Amino acid sequence: MKQWKLIAASLLLLSMQSAPAKYINKHSVKPHKVVIYTSPLDIPLIMSGSFGELRPNHFHSGIDFKTNGKIGFPVHSIAPGYVSKIFVSLGSGYMLHIAHPTGYTSIYRHMTGFAPKIMQYTLRYQYKHQVDQCEIDLKPGELKVEQGEVIGLSGNEGFSEGPHVHLDMYRTDNGDFIDPLPFFRRYLKDTRRPQADGIRLFAQSGEGIVAGRTDQLSFYPANGKIIQGWGSIGVGVKSHDYQDASFNRLRVRYIQLFVDGKLKCNINMGCFSRTEEKQVSAWVTDDFEKLYREPGNHMRIMATDKQQGLIVVNQERDYKCELVLRDLFGNESRYNFIIRGRKKTIPPKKLQGNEQLYWNRINVIKRPGMQLTVPRSMVPNNIGIHVGAHASNGFSDVYQLDNQLTPLLGSCELQIRLLRPVPKSDIHKLYIAQQKFGQWKYCGGVYLNGYIVTKIDKLGTYCVMMDKTAPHIAVVSSGRGGKLSFVVTDTGSDLQSYRGYVDGKFVLLHLRRQSDKMEYKLDPAYIKRGGTHSFELIAVDNVGNVATYKNTFKW
Ligand SMILES: [Zn+2]
Repeated sequence: MKQWKLIAASLLLLSMQSAPAKYINKHSVKPHKVVIYTSPLDIPLIMSGSFGELRPNHFHSGIDFKTNGKIGFPVHSIAPGYVSKIFVSLGSGYMLHIAHPTGYTSIYRHMTGFAPKIMQYTLRYQYKHQVDQCEIDLKPGELKVEQGEVIGLSGNEGFSEGPHVHLDMYRTDNGDFIDPLPFFRRYLKDTRRPQADGIRLFAQSGEGIVAGRTDQLSFYPANGKIIQGWGSIGVGVKSHDYQDASFNRLRVRYIQLFVDGKLKCNINMGCFSRTEEKQVSAWVTDDFEKLYREPGNHMRIMATDKQQGLIVVNQERDYKCELVLRDLFGNESRYNFIIRGRKKTIPPKKLQGNEQLYWNRINVIKRPGMQLTVPRSMVPNNIGIHVGAHASNGFSDVYQLDNQLTPLLGSCELQIRLLRPVPKSDIHKLYIAQQKFGQWKYCGGVYLNGYIVTKIDKLGTYCVMMDKTAPHIAVVSSGRGGKLSFVVTDTGSDLQSYRGYVDGKFVLLHLRRQSDKMEYKLDPAYIKRGGTHSFELIAVDNVGNVATYKNTFKW
């Protein structure tokens, strides 16, 4: 029996995505047919994360529902459809994509396992290809699901900080992530207003001045605040939204800036693509979202007036600014402040750093033994960076490409020269490493005419390193309690893959990210019980060093 109803699209769509016309940005949500989506959980829905929340380097792409601090709750498909992708990874645990006839696909992340029919399909694939982590694309007829069907169990797998179910929805045709909240609004209660925690005025370098400053000025949003300014000024806001049943701070859906009653900028966090979200780190500084568009910013969540949202103060008068924050439930907060126009001399633009990256050009940064190529549109605005070279580490000099992990909007080629010849047999053990929180992280790389070449998507500190050490395998349990378990670590280039065999047959070792532990639960249907068995574990790091562990155990 089909519990879902197809309903005339236009009516319901309007009510679900309801917002006055002026709030709607250029992009619109365009499903083909509409169903009433049902809850992915049997327990009351409480949100602990919202769509578009700021994360380091990306937006949160879905919504998180709490699971009472526990794992193992059945997760249901929110609509009929078919499993279009199965994903088992360290980062997301067990994850499913379900494509719906509405034109949307839903994603369920961080699960501890799948429902039996999906699990069997996955296990068949994992055994056939001898892999634990996998990504499987399925065709429409292969694994159909009904609305409300249990598809997995909730968990805390992968990069998850506490048990929850993460639900994404994206347009199946173009991959744009959309805010799922409008479809689940009836399960939630929200009478609380969004709140601004801070307002920041950004004096545009060489073009504006704020309270005598050429950089920026932050203040607590109290109504009636007056700040003197002249020239081109941008506004930024730090804000959060709240719901009745949740103590978590959520993201505000609509943010608007009015000056003298005219709309300057409209943020509608309703939809974004993977390419757009790379701009988050440039758009946001210290949690302040800029309510103006920098030249390389193409995010559709933002609509601005002809001045790109910037306030151009060129008269000695008061510019009345109003900030409006609004959630999908209609709760709203307004904050007023005044920029008082007072003529001032604006100092010329000060360049930062010793190199410039221009957003609309190809930039080539060179130092002896190093070349970085940053193509057009890889930075959202012209930025100054600090480039320097430090003493060698033996294989190459250490290059600082900016003094922080400045993100790039795509991958850029980095070449670092070797200081001395390396025996041919060792060349493939070389790689480029990036310094991150005091540790050197593998960034890939191939040898080319005395250089190691790789692609990077962040600035930071880089050098060439070599890894000739195989991964280290420590036995935790061999057969005890019906389990084989190991901790495998690699200090150089990091672990790339691993395989386990019992009596010569491949067995699925499941790697738990939280503990670095690999485990295989001995299955009597697969391994004949009684007697002595052989076990072999092979672990390979990113530059191909192989560790092999062989032993026997009784079970
Ligand atoms: Zn999440």
